[in-house]
Amino acid sequence: MDLLDTLTAKGLRGEVPTREEALAVLATTDDELLDVVAAAGKVRRRWFGRRVKLNYLVNLKSGLCPEDCSYCSQRLGSKAEILKYTWLKPDQAADAARAGVAGGAKRVCLVASGRGPTDRDIDRVTDTMAAIKEADPAVEICVCLGLLSDNQAERLKAAGADAYNHNLNTSENTYGAITKTHTYADRVDTVQKAHGAGLSACSGLIAGMGETDEDLVDVVFALRELGSDSVPVNFLIPFEGTPLAKEWNLTPQRCLRILAMVRFVNPDTEVRIAGGREVHLRTMQPLGLHIANSIFLGDYLTSEGQAGQADLDMIKDAGFEVEGAGEATLPRHRADIAEAAQAGGGCGTAASACGSGGGCGPCGGHSHAPAQADAGAPAAEEAEDELRSDLVKVRRRGAGTELAPNA
Ligand code: SF4
Repeated sequence: MDLLDTLTAKGLRGEVPTREEALAVLATTDDELLDVVAAAGKVRRRWFGRRVKLNYLVNLKSGLCPEDCSYCSQRLGSKAEILKYTWLKPDQAADAARAGVAGGAKRVCLVASGRGPTDRDIDRVTDTMAAIKEADPAVEICVCLGLLSDNQAERLKAAGADAYNHNLNTSENTYGAITKTHTYADRVDTVQKAHGAGLSACSGLIAGMGETDEDLVDVVFALRELGSDSVPVNFLIPFEGTPLAKEWNLTPQRCLRILAMVRFVNPDTEVRIAGGREVHLRTMQPLGLHIANSIFLGDYLTSEGQAGQADLDMIKDAGFEVEGAGEATLPRHRADIAEAAQAGGGCGTAASACGSGGGCGPCGGHSHAPAQADAGAPAAEEAEDELRSDLVKVRRRGAGTELAPNA
C-alpha cells in the first residue's frame, strides 16, 4: 500500500506526513488495519524499540471543579458518583506514588482538579514533590494543575517538577463546544508557560467526543507544532452523570487507527495510550502497544483501570519490556531540542513542546457539543450505538480512600 510505505519511510526519517496522509490513515478499512498497525509499529520501534514507559496517576484533589469541561466527571454540576476529596497531604500522596513506582512506573503524574492553582497550591505540590523525591530521587514527576499564572511554572520547575501536563483535548474549532469556562488559547498559553520555564510539555487529546477526522488531525498537528514531548491519547470514558454519557463513538479498530495517525504525525514523540484504554481497546490493547510506547499503570483519576499486574503481564506477553528508570525515553535528538529550549528559556524550535490541554489528565468523560461532527466521518460510521456503561468502573481505591492503590 503506497500510503503506508510513504508513512513508514517518513516516520523512520522522523518526518511528519502531510495532513492528507494523516486523514487517509483514519479512512483505512478494517481489511487494512493490521498493515496500518505494522507500519506504525516499524516507526515506533525505530525510535523507542520495544520499551513501554509506565506512568502512574495520583489524584491530589478530586471532583468539585468549577470548570465545565463536558467530558469530565469532575466538572461543575457532574452527577457522576466519583470520589470527591480535597488536597491529599504530602505523605498520603507520596504513599500512593510509592506504590506506582514499586509497580514499575517511571513517572508519577500529580493531578488536581480545578481551573488552576493558587500560589498556596503550588506550595502544597512543592511539599508533595519533596516527599516523593526523598523516597525515590530518580522518579520523574509530571504536574497537572490546570491553567498556570505567571511564575507558577518557574516555581514548579525550581521545586523539582520534570514535566507539566495540559491537554489541548480537541481542535481549536471545536474547543468552544466542549468547554465554555476557558478557551483553547488559555490552554496553549499554559503549555507555553510550562515549556518556557524548562518543563517538559505533556499535552494530548481526547478522541470519541463526536469530533470529525479533520478535528483529530488538527489537534494532533497542533500538538506536533507546539512540540509536546509526550502526547497522551485519551479515549472518552462516557461517565454517567456527565453531558457525554451517551457518546459511545469508538471501536477498538477506530482507536488503533487514531493511535497510528498520532504516531505517524509524532514519530519520535512519546505517544501514550491514556484514559479509556481498557474501555475502548478492550482485548485489542496489546496491538496498541505496537504503536504507542507509553501507558498509565493501574487506575485513572476517577475510574479504575485493569489491575497493575495485568498491565505488566500484557506488556511481557506482547513481547515488550518496561522502560527502566535509567533509560532515556525520547531519542537523543528530541532530548537535545528539549535541552535547548530549557537553556533558551522558551520554545526552542517551531516544534517545541507547548501543548495545551485542558485542566486535568485522563478524567474520562464526554462532551456533547462536538457530536455535531460530520455524520459521514468514519467515527460515525463505526459507532457501536451501544451504551457500555457496564465497562466504566468508578475508582474506589487508592488515593483518597483507605484501600491500597492499584499498581
Ligand atoms: S478537566 Fe480539569 S478543569 Fe476541566 S472540569 Fe475536569 S477537573 Fe475541571
